[in-house]
Amino acid sequence: MKVRSHITQNEDLLFEMSSPGKKGYQLPALDVPEVDPRAALGAANVRKDIDGFPEVSEVEVIRHFTRLSTWNYAIDLGLYPLGSCTMKYNPRVNELVARLDGLAWAHPYQPESLSQGAMKIIVQLEDALAEISGMDAVTIEPAAGAHGELTGILLIRALLEKRGNPRKKILIPDSAHGTNPATAAIAGYEVENIRSNAAGGIDLEVLAKAMSKDVAGLMVTNPNTLGVFEESIVNAAAIVHAKGGLVYMDGANMNALVGIARPGDFGVDVMHINLHKTFSTPHGGGGPGGGPVAVKKILEPFLPAPRIRRGGRNLKFDYKRSKSIGKVRAFYGNFGVMVRALAYILAHGGEGLRNATVDAVLNANYIRKKLEPYFDLPYKAPNMHEVVFSDDRQAKLGVRTGDIAKRLIDYGFHPYTVSFPLIVHGALMIEPTETESLREIDVFVESMISIAREIETDPQLVLSAPHSTRTSKVDEVTAARKPILRWRPPAAVQG
Ligand SMILES: *Cc1c(COP(=O)(O)O)cnc(C)c1O
Repeated sequence: MKVRSHITQNEDLLFEMSSPGKKGYQLPALDVPEVDPRAALGAANVRKDIDGFPEVSEVEVIRHFTRLSTWNYAIDLGLYPLGSCTMKYNPRVNELVARLDGLAWAHPYQPESLSQGAMKIIVQLEDALAEISGMDAVTIEPAAGAHGELTGILLIRALLEKRGNPRKKILIPDSAHGTNPATAAIAGYEVENIRSNAAGGIDLEVLAKAMSKDVAGLMVTNPNTLGVFEESIVNAAAIVHAKGGLVYMDGANMNALVGIARPGDFGVDVMHINLHKTFSTPHGGGGPGGGPVAVKKILEPFLPAPRIRRGGRNLKFDYKRSKSIGKVRAFYGNFGVMVRALAYILAHGGEGLRNATVDAVLNANYIRKKLEPYFDLPYKAPNMHEVVFSDDRQAKLGVRTGDIAKRLIDYGFHPYTVSFPLIVHGALMIEPTETESLREIDVFVESMISIAREIETDPQLVLSAPHSTRTSKVDEVTAARKPILRWRPPAAVQG
């Protein structure tokens, strides 16, 4: 007989806990005449039956989902070393501020006279991000990084169209984030790949050759996905500008620059910032996120509508913007996320933001130094806030980056980013962020070293990991090609 227990990571489905007649609520007896739903709503609008719908009590539902939630890894449980994602801890004060009644319950249809405080938060956040990025104007409308990219490239297209020719191509280094070429294609541009040099940066000769009057601009992730700062970005921008193109910077890695260097000062015309990465707003679960776009003056007239007009006694939404690319998001964007980001910025202040950057870079370089004796580091350029190893050494013993990541789960950590960026063979991409303590990072480093040793003495142990989870290694190809997405009630419930 199967022994039921909560201690193992096992949980019956709600359907299996179901017992006819159980309810999660009790209502008082009806004190108005009963209505036949078919008569009131029309028979077509009433479901005939709800087959096998689980009937359970409140405590069963609460415990079921609470138990399931403990199987999840979360930033509140430990380090989340995913590279390119800046999975930092979100201070609770951000949440507190975002839950203030006047902000949490603000409605987008509320009149301007009752929205002045909320509008001031948007204006303050735009100004702070403009200052941090060294740009002239910011729109907070886009809902995510990739959405910001699309907005930014559409701004470039609008400006070039106004000048008479939107042009055909966007140049993208091979170290760029995968969303960059996708964005350029969706905005109607052809993508031309720019090969990186041996140091992992833009190759200026390759760029100069590719740059022509057909090219709308360069789209560059900086620091790039190798965790390396583009040292020749000023010269690269000059090459692009000389032929009338614009420079788009993917600023998702802004956590390596805030308070130290400003893209507006090194030749960037338009960029996005990920609030859910750099500015400590919740990340994951499908959003909501924030991907503000910062621009130089020449692009300002094309920003999405509405803009908030400053100056007068009251702030006002300005919808009449003849050159605007239009709206990219309902209303004004994800307001709750903006509140959290501004709370984070104000709580830190200039000095604090700069310290966060310095600590993020220090933590990444600490991990680099500690793990360099055990894992191959193909690009030896100075690292910023993340470090990318390759599995070359372990692959000789038959163990790949994906296997190491799965074994890391047994040590209680979320895996790092696996097999990305593509220009590193078998990549292990690690970004600790500034929010991790030396102790937590040391535990992570020791775990990685321990796995490296296991691979030498007992590779099978690593290849068959994870061992501590409910489900061990799955066949990822079958899971992707033939997913089982529909639950069928067991026979007992079906009856
Ligand atoms: C995360 C990320 C993006 C995309 O941001 P989303 O908010 O996930 O759409 C783009 N570029 C880089 C470098 C990133 O790390």
